[in-house]
Amino acid sequence: MSEPELPPDLKDAVRFHGHFCPGLAIGYRASKVALERLGAQRAKDEELVAIVENDSCSADGVQWVSGCTFGKGNFFFRDYGKQVFTFALRPTGRAVRLALKPTEERPPLPEDDRATLADQMLNAPAESLFTVTELVIELPKAASICSSVRCERCGEPVMSTRTRNVNGRTLCIPCAQRQEQTAEK
Ligand SMILES: [Zn+2]
Ligand SMILES: [Zn+2]
Repeated sequence: MSEPELPPDLKDAVRFHGHFCPGLAIGYRASKVALERLGAQRAKDEELVAIVENDSCSADGVQWVSGCTFGKGNFFFRDYGKQVFTFALRPTGRAVRLALKPTEERPPLPEDDRATLADQMLNAPAESLFTVTELVIELPKAASICSSVRCERCGEPVMSTRTRNVNGRTLCIPCAQRQEQTAEK
């Protein structure tokens, strides 16, 4: 089977993700549509945020194309198990929400036929794949950088907002959990 010729940015996304699959294609296309609707560029900083309602392959397509990444703090994972993606601009909250249509209401995205998958994902009209809604959302909090303190049990530096006070000692979360487990016994 001949490999489909993919646009360079999709090739890069495939390299990042490791393989070309329907999920990656969904995240890729959803992000492209969103950037276009919002008139936005790939995020350099936190001016664009993505809220992704699943942790499947599509999340990598989103991170690669939109520049909203886990590490930058402008990628928000909501564990809802839905192929729904919301992209929003700071500071206005102007957003676009894309919900992948149910299988029976959209063109097929075959896992085993990469040419068809690529063709559908790149060329099918956005509205045939997704329900697209423009809206204004309440933005998630921006990433904050906090100073670190040392955990009084393991001695490792830990962000001050992620410590727990256990019997007057400032502990990191794993140490606090271990302490509680030991105390229960
Ligand atoms: Zn995949
Ligand atoms: Zn610790």
